[in-house]
Amino acid sequence: MKDAIDDNRTNATWTAKYPFTEEAREYIRLHAPSLEEFSKEELEHILEYVFNRLKREIEGKAPVEWTREFETLFYPLAFAIIQATRNIVLQRIFADRESKKAFSHLREEETNDILHIGKSTFNLKLKHSEKDDNYLIYLMDYLKVASRFGGGRWKLTNRYVEDGFVYLDKRRTSRIIAEHVRLHIQRKMEEEITLPPIFLSYSERLLKQFKARIYEEVIFEEEYLRHKVDPAEFPPCIKHIYEVAVRGEGLSHMARFSLVTFLYTVGYSVDRIIKIFSRAPDFNPQKTRYQVEHITGSRGGRKKYRIPSCAKIRAFNLCIPDEFCRRLRHPLQYLRRKKKRK
Ligand code: SF4
Repeated sequence: MKDAIDDNRTNATWTAKYPFTEEAREYIRLHAPSLEEFSKEELEHILEYVFNRLKREIEGKAPVEWTREFETLFYPLAFAIIQATRNIVLQRIFADRESKKAFSHLREEETNDILHIGKSTFNLKLKHSEKDDNYLIYLMDYLKVASRFGGGRWKLTNRYVEDGFVYLDKRRTSRIIAEHVRLHIQRKMEEEITLPPIFLSYSERLLKQFKARIYEEVIFEEEYLRHKVDPAEFPPCIKHIYEVAVRGEGLSHMARFSLVTFLYTVGYSVDRIIKIFSRAPDFNPQKTRYQVEHITGSRGGRKKYRIPSCAKIRAFNLCIPDEFCRRLRHPLQYLRRKKKRK
């Protein structure tokens, strides 16, 4: 990867902004103590800083007072602590925070730097058109992450595509790269590495601190498998939408609407439904609550919307029938039919 490293970018400012790049890794390699050295008493105050800042970030609070000198160290040390927890919930939160930070820097960034990160760190086929100030991203690179976002504006049918490249403005290009940051961190977290014991002790402290939150997530996972109506029994169209939502991937408006109306009808609470959507990369708690409460009739005109018919679901290309679906008119009939045949 040495070829991808730009020496002009191997500096503290770049490293603090884009700690996941090769330049940042190189800067840390050249200027920071090794992970082993952090076991020394004189460096422990830095780990303590990192730990406190990490805690606040997981809680969604503003960062603690930070010195510029330590800024470049946050990412590699926090990464090691989180990786040592081997906990998927904490790893997911960390990846999410870093992805959002990257997005906020990228959308203000110079064209050359955006292109450099996209191409050298994530191997994306990315170009820029001076003429109309558009970014052009290779179709497959776009689809890999855009399918995770909800909302029609990310649909390929709503984007200009030419010669295998999708045209995007700076904001959307930054969003695509930031999503790659999230996936990159999640992938790296899975690597098996041996960390110095000091990091294990910090990771244990972190696990203890967030025990309740982790437990809540685990309960959520378990409920995914056994709720009032077991998701395994859902009609195939709804089951597919549900699984996409639980994986944290994006959904079209019709898919969300069908899922909300179905789940509410079979006994899921508004809070539980919101929780299911909370894994989406563009999750906005207030907006989601507003939409779910509106659909379920808990706010506004108090109109409770019904689950769409099979014909409607089919019209939106969301019908993926199985052997119980023959001549079905409504997804609720599926539950009864399947039960009867067992
Ligand atoms: S037939 Fe109806 S219940 Fe079955 S997958 Fe299609 S829309 Fe869903």
